[in-house]
Amino acid sequence: MAIHTRTCHICEANCGLLVETEGRRVVSIRGDADDPISRGHVCPKGNAIADLEADPDRLTAPMKRVGKDWQAMDWPTALAEIGTRFAAIKAAGGGAALYIGNPTAHDFSLGFQTGALKKAMGVRGLYSASTVDQMPHQLAQYWLYGHNALFPIPDIERTRHLVILGGNPLASNGSVWTVPDVKRRIAELQARGGRLTVIDPRRSETAGVADAHHFIRPGSDPALLIGLLLALDEAGLVRPGRLLPMLDGWDALWTALRRFDMPGLARACGWTPDAIRALAAELGNGEPTVVYGRIGVSTAPFGTLAHWLINLVNIATGNLDREGGAMFSLPAIDIAGGSGPGSHGRFHSRVSGHPEVMGEFPAVSLAEEITTPGEGQVQALVVVAGNPVLSVPDGGALDAALAGLKLMVSVDPHITATSRHAHYVLPPCGPLAKDHYPLLLAPIAFRNFAKFSPALWEPAEGQKRDWEIVAELARAIAVAQGITLPPPVAPRAQLDRMLAKGGLSLAEVAAHPHGLDLGPHQPRLPDRLFTPDKRIRCAPEPLMADLTGRFADWLAQQPEPGLTLIGRRHIRSNNSWLGNAPRLAKGPDKCVALLNPADAAAHGIADGALVRIASAAGAVEVPAQLTEAMMAGVVSLPHGFGHGRPGVRLGIAGARPGASHNDLTLRSRIDPLSGTAALVGTPVSIAPVEPEPAFAVAAEERSG
Ligand code: SF4
Repeated sequence: MAIHTRTCHICEANCGLLVETEGRRVVSIRGDADDPISRGHVCPKGNAIADLEADPDRLTAPMKRVGKDWQAMDWPTALAEIGTRFAAIKAAGGGAALYIGNPTAHDFSLGFQTGALKKAMGVRGLYSASTVDQMPHQLAQYWLYGHNALFPIPDIERTRHLVILGGNPLASNGSVWTVPDVKRRIAELQARGGRLTVIDPRRSETAGVADAHHFIRPGSDPALLIGLLLALDEAGLVRPGRLLPMLDGWDALWTALRRFDMPGLARACGWTPDAIRALAAELGNGEPTVVYGRIGVSTAPFGTLAHWLINLVNIATGNLDREGGAMFSLPAIDIAGGSGPGSHGRFHSRVSGHPEVMGEFPAVSLAEEITTPGEGQVQALVVVAGNPVLSVPDGGALDAALAGLKLMVSVDPHITATSRHAHYVLPPCGPLAKDHYPLLLAPIAFRNFAKFSPALWEPAEGQKRDWEIVAELARAIAVAQGITLPPPVAPRAQLDRMLAKGGLSLAEVAAHPHGLDLGPHQPRLPDRLFTPDKRIRCAPEPLMADLTGRFADWLAQQPEPGLTLIGRRHIRSNNSWLGNAPRLAKGPDKCVALLNPADAAAHGIADGALVRIASAAGAVEVPAQLTEAMMAGVVSLPHGFGHGRPGVRLGIAGARPGASHNDLTLRSRIDPLSGTAALVGTPVSIAPVEPEPAFAVAAEERSG
């Protein structure tokens, strides 16, 4: 028996784990009480790492699709064939695309290799999960602070009032905000006299422990946020304090904001002017307060505008860069200091002309790039750790598009809704054979910390780590085209070099197996700003234009009638990739539609009955669950389900596949600034699923 300290790689919380093993078998996993950040917290997903290691559906060798069958191959043959086929497509003028999934953010070694793959493939713009997730944060930060990776982090340990808009950290343990053990940290906030307010179209799990919860119409966040700013202004509570000399464009901003009227804003978001004024008075009372917005804000038609406005509320109340407010990290590896600031609009997508954002094209545009003929039409696709058929809007359209590719390669442990279209699937080893360092996640943590978790063991015979696969794939594709790549980045050596820039070494960090607490955040402005003059750009031109143009037009058309759809996350799932873990799959069906009882009654839908939800993209049928926790007019369906497509090889997930939220979402609904999909607020209709007529069932039975 051995006990290993480890960081959970599954979500952003980065909980410390103690993994008990016997040989290569996981005996138990529990929270590490000596981890200074997570303090022993662990959620069901952490325990399920044992299931991921032992998953019988996890592929153990490269697979080649031959007709409807799969044939195992050796690595050299698979890589050589891919290289040859890729080179032939490029030589004939075909285009290529690279899609990077969310788990890449949790694997520092893998992230080091994707640049080489991009170079070998000759692709300029990437597709990734960022444009169905957090890109609006990054773009707003790029324009405000001069760097896309300069995330303002809620200082939960010292704030007096935390306002969460469109986030559910009790399910996520923080998102774009690494905050393990968040439930206890909220209780500690309340025990010292602080408050939690949650604003969400669903009374979520986090709202259940909040001091106040308010519904909001999906996608209307900018209306509330402008209302808060105007209410602060009316009450004389705009007090940026020491930030004032750093504010560029401050007067122009207020001139633009004052064109809006409070009753119209309130009506659009489903609040009253008095309720907006009351919350503004609490936020502007001079105590440390902070507004944090997340996925419900990001994945909406005005996602970037809303994140800009959240920052402005924190600035206006003097709570940016203040203890107890929204603070900037200074992690052991400063990714903001070590990378370019970001970009917008340097080049555009081929078919619809979307601007690149941080070097990426919208994930929603991938299908049209595959199906639209012309120079550069995508004919070869590599997907690394992604399942865009389930995670990108109008998954049905992408599903159909993938079937037409001349070459598709998936780096994936499973045959999923996406990788079933691949000509080759290259499977990585189990998670415990990989090193872990929170390279992209420590910078968004509520405290500065560093922790290195070495692999528990080498990959099993014939298996490879993700980073080795991507490095070898890049090399195979390059060699076949006569391209020379530099040697692959050695992950530990690169990590050591990066830590050295901050005054640490990998050996020093590794000497603290439970993690190294580097303390709470400190005020860091103006030094931390990346703008040339060290000032905050409060009125960036693209956002001012969006405010006074597209948003003002939308506001003038309110309210829209009809039902709209939102997503949700369950603590026993993480996007689409944990459905095959028995520990997480058990229990009541998670893929149910939550409906307000009044909406259900208006459409004749009973609790527990099947409901058909339809949009312009498609329709799904799922059980209905009636609950007053849903705002009237809003339907909630979780994302990450839909494992029942033909050919998917996920035994556990396939037993209760659920329906894909993204079979309803629309490619046409997008935040045009960030290219991020508007998953929130899809117009839908609902209807009861009528039982089959008895005579039809009887006829089928006879014919059988
Ligand atoms: S909260 Fe996230 S990091 Fe912590 S155990 Fe659960 S999945 Fe792992």
